[in-house]
Amino acid sequence: MSFKDLKLNRPLLRAVAEAGYDNPTLIQEKTIPAVLDQKDVIASAQTGTGKTAAFALPILQLLFDFQDAPKRGKKIKALIVSPTRELAIQIEENFKIYSKYTNLRSTVIFGGAPIEPQIDVLKKGVDILIATPGRLLDLHKQDVVNLDYIQTLVLDEADLMLDMGFLDDVKKIERLCPQDKQILLFSATMPFKVEQLANTILKTPIRIEVSPTSSAAKSVSQVLYYVPKRNKIELCLHLLRNTIKGNIIIFRRTKFGVDKLEKTLLKNGYKVESFHGDKSQTDRQDALNRFKNNEVNILIATDVAARGIDITDLDAVINFDMPNVPETYVHRIGRTGRAGKTGMSYSLCSADEKAYIKTIQQLIQREIAVEQDHPYPLDPKAKPEVHKSKKTGSKHKKGRKSEGSKKKKKRWY
Ligand code: AMP
Repeated sequence: MSFKDLKLNRPLLRAVAEAGYDNPTLIQEKTIPAVLDQKDVIASAQTGTGKTAAFALPILQLLFDFQDAPKRGKKIKALIVSPTRELAIQIEENFKIYSKYTNLRSTVIFGGAPIEPQIDVLKKGVDILIATPGRLLDLHKQDVVNLDYIQTLVLDEADLMLDMGFLDDVKKIERLCPQDKQILLFSATMPFKVEQLANTILKTPIRIEVSPTSSAAKSVSQVLYYVPKRNKIELCLHLLRNTIKGNIIIFRRTKFGVDKLEKTLLKNGYKVESFHGDKSQTDRQDALNRFKNNEVNILIATDVAARGIDITDLDAVINFDMPNVPETYVHRIGRTGRAGKTGMSYSLCSADEKAYIKTIQQLIQREIAVEQDHPYPLDPKAKPEVHKSKKTGSKHKKGRKSEGSKKKKKRWY
């Protein structure tokens, strides 16, 4: 199938051709006609499938006939809600590329950045708004954003949005838009809470699924190292010295783990950047840019912070901590081996993580090859190492935190 077959207009076809896209991806083939038909859609697709263009192109086409409103008279007609700033920025970049030969204007708003410049752009009038939930509600409250004219609402990465605690915000945003709008919901996974949200807000949606499971796992060579937890850093250094080369992403479960590993790798002379939820917007963007520009070749990240970020061309993924959700493993390794290339994934599994391997292997329907020839083998009979906390604990465990301090709770991702 070609983009022409999807009945996209000339200005869009021209932009798509300039972006270097030859043919639509599977999610685009399935989603574009449904959106043009003004149906609600629930799609399970992860980043890398081309899902952004799958909603951006038909939205631009639907708005094309209304594009010539005078600038100041422009009303926001499409709203894309995204859980993280990086994702929101990425979506806006895509809209800019695809709308190059139209008069449609888009902008992006997100928290953690000065509000005034965002207000200035909004006041000039835009057709398409990409936003993170908090800043959107803030600017709506200040009467800078008017959602009365929304025709299409996109909820992107819905599972991540709910994981990050945005359920109430999302429901509120949905209620602020007109009742007869079209809703497109995209989610990498479909846990019950996403289905529940979809059931309450979507109207007889078209279901679209592009499964990354088998294809992602096929183009990636996967190796598993059983290693005692205390030796993981040594094994990681050993592999970086001897085996793993090129552009690498290392996944850790917590931001504390990310920081610790980053310090060790920097001390050992590696060029490293890190990425987690406690870093400022500027720091995250800088880290990403330095990685994308090849100034550093190793990026250490938590799953939640790295989700949805378009980092392609990776040579290897290291699972420093094994994920307890098998789909997360598939998402992680799916970042390498894209576009017909073969990628590598290296998993470091300690005694307490062995159970995760079983569920991962069930999901990917294959056994991961075990590499036994390394300096820190795990005794097969080893019991999980228990970390004894130095803290003696408090007599007043429950209810000690004030409401204020609970609100200030740090993010773990
Ligand atoms: P996404 O899943 O939207 O994050 O897209 C992943 C990457 O695929 C982005 O870098 C897009 O520019 C690219 N892409 C999207 N659609 C196509 C297509 N039809 N052909 C080639 N590349 C595409």
